[in-house]
Amino acid sequence: MRILVSNDDGITAPGLAALVAAVRDLGEIVVAAPDSPQSAAAHSITLKEPLGVEYVRIAGPGGLEGMAISGRPADCVRLAIRNLMDGPPDLVLSGINAGANVGVNIFYSGTVAAAAEGAMCGAPAVAFSAAVAGLNEGDADFVTVAGYCRRVLDRLLADGLEERQLINVNVPLVADEPPRGIRLAEQSDADVIDTYRPEQTPTGATRFHLAAEYAFDKAHPDSDVALLAERYVTVTPLHVDITCHERMAALHALEEDFGGTV
Ligand code: MN
Repeated sequence: MRILVSNDDGITAPGLAALVAAVRDLGEIVVAAPDSPQSAAAHSITLKEPLGVEYVRIAGPGGLEGMAISGRPADCVRLAIRNLMDGPPDLVLSGINAGANVGVNIFYSGTVAAAAEGAMCGAPAVAFSAAVAGLNEGDADFVTVAGYCRRVLDRLLADGLEERQLINVNVPLVADEPPRGIRLAEQSDADVIDTYRPEQTPTGATRFHLAAEYAFDKAHPDSDVALLAERYVTVTPLHVDITCHERMAALHALEEDFGGTV
């Protein structure tokens, strides 16, 4: 099996090394990751600038070999598949992100976007994130988290991951107590309760910082937000197609014909 691994925290992130180490025995591993942190890059791509590719080898127990790319997470996956790999990947993995990617944060996530890009390119893809809020990145036990990621991945592979299938996995904080189990969870649409902190510039203008602390508004009990908070590993199948199929029938009346032919 040929596996492409990417992330949004960058090629030197400990979560990436832990994920690579956890899946290395599954086949040929190709790492293509941003050369700088790209959290909250979402699904942006680089249009104007050329993408640089540097082959790097990071030594040590958390080491890896891979391609550091001067772009966004989605750039890394697309460029790797289109130009840098010997053939199409059988599987695309992203993560392990330092921070949960549940609820509406899925839309901001570069980690999920890297996996989604893999699905768009035709491969099954899984995004892995760890709820490490409140920990320094160096204190986060990504090796233990990676064990839970591998456990979920083995189940997914045993069930047969299909082409273009996109799965989002989140592992709760493992520092204090282990996860309570694995749960299928729907994506929460609860809003994030956050604030922008104003500051005055020397010229008297006001600027705004997005505060680091945030919380979710009340989330549905079966949702990824709620189940992750209850210390479950959450597994959420996602669509690249974000059409609201339920609304299609209700909106049918807005269709009209202007005549003419194709
Ligand atoms: Mn990140």
